[in-house]
Amino acid sequence: MLDALQEIDPEEVPADAVVIGGGLSGLAAAIHLTRAGLKVMCLEPRENFTKIIGESLDWSAPLLLARLGLPMEALVRTGAATFKRHITVTAVDGTQEEFLPGAWLAERPWNVETRTLHLDRLQIHALLQAEVRALGTVTLHERAIGFEVRDGRILCVQTSGGQSLRPRWVVDASGAAASLLGREFNLRSASYGPRKIALWSHFPTDEWVEGTTLYTLSSRDEYMEWIWEIPVSPGVSSIGYVAPGSKVKQQRAAGLSNAQILWEQMSGFARLSEIAEQSPIEHVAATSFLCRTYSGVCGPNWIIIGEAASQSDPITGNGVTAALRHAEEGSALIVRYQHREKIPSLARFVYDMRVSGMGRYFNSLIEKLYYESPVRSFLGIFLTARVYMVPAWLTNVVYSRTRPRKLFGTLVLCSAMITLRAAAWGLFRVSSLLRRRSGRARQPVSAELISGHNLIVHREERRALHLQM
Ligand SMILES: Cc1cc2nc3c(=O)[nH]c(=O)nc-3n(C[C@H](O)[C@H](O)[C@H](O)COP(=O)(O)OP(=O)(O)OC[C@H]3O[C@@H](n4cnc5c(N)ncnc54)[C@H](O)[C@@H]3O)c2cc1C
Repeated sequence: MLDALQEIDPEEVPADAVVIGGGLSGLAAAIHLTRAGLKVMCLEPRENFTKIIGESLDWSAPLLLARLGLPMEALVRTGAATFKRHITVTAVDGTQEEFLPGAWLAERPWNVETRTLHLDRLQIHALLQAEVRALGTVTLHERAIGFEVRDGRILCVQTSGGQSLRPRWVVDASGAAASLLGREFNLRSASYGPRKIALWSHFPTDEWVEGTTLYTLSSRDEYMEWIWEIPVSPGVSSIGYVAPGSKVKQQRAAGLSNAQILWEQMSGFARLSEIAEQSPIEHVAATSFLCRTYSGVCGPNWIIIGEAASQSDPITGNGVTAALRHAEEGSALIVRYQHREKIPSLARFVYDMRVSGMGRYFNSLIEKLYYESPVRSFLGIFLTARVYMVPAWLTNVVYSRTRPRKLFGTLVLCSAMITLRAAAWGLFRVSSLLRRRSGRARQPVSAELISGHNLIVHREERRALHLQM
């Protein structure tokens, strides 16, 4: 059950830090901590990772990967990643618009990297695991099942194999589904939107572009459902469908399998339909998630990172950046205060402010501007996409450039994000009001009846489109 130190009893392994979870954020934290000289044990029950989703990254992630020893050019050269040069948004009627950072940003004085990546996560995972092993980090393939806590400190981590580990520091990287310390300490959390389901598969694609494509499935008046197409490695695209859980359940109740649901949704767009016809969908992975951000994600000798701290909606493309940032910043805190008994309250407060501030910012912006219908209905899908992407992109660039760690920088960043959230909320309210007014003017009988009718007409249009193809 032990990697790296096969014959040693885990209770005897002197670990300064235990990292719970060997996903992206856990491996990143293990690397940072071990490089800084700490003895680290990683708890990860899974021995094989097969269904990891391939991700489309935002523009801040490549630097964070490079600091882990995975530079962008090398990843592309070895086929573990492809370049993402733009995002293409496809409207429900098939019209498209491309979004990319202006070329002038790459020039002086800005010098912004305008390329980013799509990851083949199986390959990236293998590279990170190899680095963890090479550094001598011990991985114990057991689950953390309980904690002994006194005065807010974690004294002991109990494992499914009956071990009682007593590290000085604990990092919770157990992911959104487990959220171990969030539950253990009963932390406050804010959730955004309904629980959603993603169904996805990998497809061979002869013709692919160095960009992410988002296909819009919902009309202006509906809560958003969408499809991603991400070329995770040359000639292989990850294609996935995201919708509220209730919508997927309805389709399952109508007798459709996950593969049929994905096929049905893809068949609304000529390109996706062609891909599905060329390579019948066999293995469809499914995951359900609720976008949720915890508060109070750092204690005296523990810290929460990655999705265990904050799950961002996949469409924000901020999940990998957040996981890697938390891992880097959380590890730096532990390294900085390793000779003290605990992380000082102010440092905890500032880390928590950044983690929960960023989580709330991305999740609230995407729900209000994109998933909910009023702003899309008012501005149209392309302008809405721009209204979301510009501040989201800028916030990440500013974060990466300034790397706020102390109180002042964090306060400035969080105040800017609160202002932008307030602006998004204002735009949402105004759009809702205008839509209600214009709805009343146009529909004197019953707004609900007619918008219900619109929904049916829209569905029928899509069905007709399927038949034509
Ligand atoms: C559908 C979907 C699409 C996405 N698309 C994108 C995208 O395009 N771009 C992007 O940037 N991000 C995307 N993301 C987000 C990104 O994948 C995640 O943010 C990232 O993988 C989180 O990594 P993590 O290490 O925090 O969690 P995880 O990868 O979930 O790792 C948690 C680990 O903890 C282990 N674990 C759980 N319980 C225990 C326990 N009790 N003891 C020990 N170990 C335990 C698990 O086995 C797991 O390996 C997407 C997410 C989803 C759901």
